[in-house]
Amino acid sequence: MTTEVQTTSTEQATETISGSRLLARSLKQQGVDHLFGVVGFPITAFATDAQREGIQYIGMRNEQAASYAAQAASYLTGRPQGCAVVSGPGVVHALAGMANAQSNRWPMILIGGASAMFQNGMGAFQEERQVLAVTPFAKYAHAVEEAERIPYYVEQAVRTSLHGRPGPAYLDLPDDVLADEVSMERVHMAPRVSDPPRPPAPEADVRRAIEALKSAENPLVIVGKGMAWSRAEHEVREFIEKTQLPFLATPMGKGVVPDDHPLSVAAARTYALQNADLVFLLGARLNWILHFGKPPRFRPDVRVVQLDIAPEEIGTNVPAEVGLVGDGQTVMRQVNTVLDVDPWQYPPETTWRSGLEQGAQENIAITEQMMADDSVPLNYQRVLKDVHAATPRDAIVVSEGANTMDIGRTILLNYEPRSRLDAGTYGTMGVGLGFAVAAAVTNPGKRIVAVEGDAAFGFSGMEVETMCRYNLPVTIVVINNNGIGGGISQLRPGVAPPPSVYLPGSRYEQVMTAFPGGRGYFVERPEELLPALTEANEGEGPALVHIAIDPRARRKPQQFDWHTGRT
Ligand code: ADP
Repeated sequence: MTTEVQTTSTEQATETISGSRLLARSLKQQGVDHLFGVVGFPITAFATDAQREGIQYIGMRNEQAASYAAQAASYLTGRPQGCAVVSGPGVVHALAGMANAQSNRWPMILIGGASAMFQNGMGAFQEERQVLAVTPFAKYAHAVEEAERIPYYVEQAVRTSLHGRPGPAYLDLPDDVLADEVSMERVHMAPRVSDPPRPPAPEADVRRAIEALKSAENPLVIVGKGMAWSRAEHEVREFIEKTQLPFLATPMGKGVVPDDHPLSVAAARTYALQNADLVFLLGARLNWILHFGKPPRFRPDVRVVQLDIAPEEIGTNVPAEVGLVGDGQTVMRQVNTVLDVDPWQYPPETTWRSGLEQGAQENIAITEQMMADDSVPLNYQRVLKDVHAATPRDAIVVSEGANTMDIGRTILLNYEPRSRLDAGTYGTMGVGLGFAVAAAVTNPGKRIVAVEGDAAFGFSGMEVETMCRYNLPVTIVVINNNGIGGGISQLRPGVAPPPSVYLPGSRYEQVMTAFPGGRGYFVERPEELLPALTEANEGEGPALVHIAIDPRARRKPQQFDWHTGRT
């Protein structure tokens, strides 16, 4: 990576700069340190310019994966990171990442190359109405019409993406704007966008929220990924300790308070949701992930106290008794300050606590039985038990796939905030490898463990080459049940494969060993699990552990279908 020597102001007056170089410089100035992409017309020069300006460029194999990587890097670093794609089909592929980021409320900046403006409407190579296509998925979308205005647009895109409720931003860069040479005299570099403002909630609302908590018999705190994003882990942990309230985390809220904390009631999730009379919702939405806050998963009379940075979110699906509108970290600090002056704890012995304890014990007994089952072919629980045992405590865990992700959520514990990345609010399968690449490049020194169903892995399997090229410390665990939601052990000759089935006998570990530096392991038996997983995690660079399981393996019996709920 090379960084140019700064010019003096007199030299600057005569210096010219290409649109492409100015774009790279503006992004770097705004804190875009990582750029994921696939080069080609008209952005190849831009990717090289990004490297010259000190941005780490990671070349991926598909724009979808690159756009997933950019948003995970944004979530993990706290500043919007970039994705650069070619015109037309490149932008269309990256729409997947824009939609996923929008649904997760995550920032990112997509840079779309575009055909030259003077060819607009003429049927140019890869011509597309890109701003129009991106707009439904973007918090901000704009075309740049002249090179000297690039710093202006980059600042707007970064600020809009990052401030308030985060979301993805798009900039359309026509070939002629990127190739243009402008005098630095005419260029005004924009000020660096500040880190997100952290507004407090009105003090009166903070007091009302605490009074509501005190009045509840069965209170429950739910910690969502808004708290992970706002870096509120210290404040939330302090609040839980002070009040001794039972808490649950949403899938990506896991780790804000460690999963093994004694006040976690994750093992009694259904009982907790069904019987809570008041839910303190912290940076989480009452959408499908929380069953809309409705019966039969919640009490019909459940009271909601809701903290969110977005005022328009307060009251979605269930009216909120108190809305705390503000930044997660600031508002929890306000709550803790009031509790410092006027301490309050939820009592240690209540029927609510004992009910939660009993619910947890019943579930743990069923899961432990399944985790102890050594029969071959293996089941999910047995496999995930060893995946967890072999995963370093500070690892970042990526998880996707239907059963693999759902069962993994309960067995793969998280101890640190932002240490779990999964299919998220949009339920996107195929995000995992892009997320793993991003987690590795933004967290040097940590192991990344991507636990993938075979179907989820297939969406962007070629990213193993990316991992080998950059020698990233990623372990991919493919838990293979031969299909989507389960397959069969053998195809029947002359019979069309059922729609949900993938090819039995496939050897996914060989996808990794096809590339120099990639290590592959194949596991079918319980005693092979820990040695393979440990070696994969402790070795250098990327590894893939392919674990063949019973194609008919399932979750433990569920009381409710996962998407129960109707408004
Ligand atoms: P989960 O999937 O964990 O339930 P969601 O993505 O549904 O989480 O909800 C996260 C919520 O956090 C969103 O409604 C978003 O507006 C909110 N949020 C985002 N940034 C902040 C912040 N700085 N402080 C508080 N809430 C935030």
